[in-house]
Amino acid sequence: MKFISPHVFQAYMTCPREAWLEYHSVTSDQDHEYLALGRLIHERSYERDRKEIFVDQLLKIDLFRGELVAEVKKSSRHIEAAKLQLAYYLYYLKHEKGLTFEGILLFPKERKTEKVKLTEELEHRIEEILRRMAPMLLKDEPPPARRIKYCRTCSFFEFCWSDEGE
Ligand code: SF4
Repeated sequence: MKFISPHVFQAYMTCPREAWLEYHSVTSDQDHEYLALGRLIHERSYERDRKEIFVDQLLKIDLFRGELVAEVKKSSRHIEAAKLQLAYYLYYLKHEKGLTFEGILLFPKERKTEKVKLTEELEHRIEEILRRMAPMLLKDEPPPARRIKYCRTCSFFEFCWSDEGE
């Protein structure tokens, strides 16, 4: 099984179908307004303090003020999923690279930050999620679309619901 990217990992928290589509590289609507907004906030915020690095050409990581792995989010609405996603970065760096970091989530619009430490409990949660996620990702078909609140802002909205309208 190929490496599960943090993006797929986070998508699974919200919608397993989205995770399957991401994992199988089904192209989403890259011009989707929410993606564009996310990119804009990401590009403009903390410009002086951040440095982007790539690990294994798979993980795109922001180093914030030189020491912490940071994630820039457009809002803290999905903070639990964001924490787990960042914990998954930390988990990968620890287990694949032997690198120990603490993380920090940045919410520039809300002028808020949240530190994330890879505790034993978080590691167990990640491993449990990976165990549940793997068989679903390896199936030939994605799970059926299920209408949830998040669909309206999802970049796969057209893909899932074009026949039905909003
Ligand atoms: S539109 Fe809804 S069902 Fe489809 S991938 Fe996105 S969240 Fe999942």
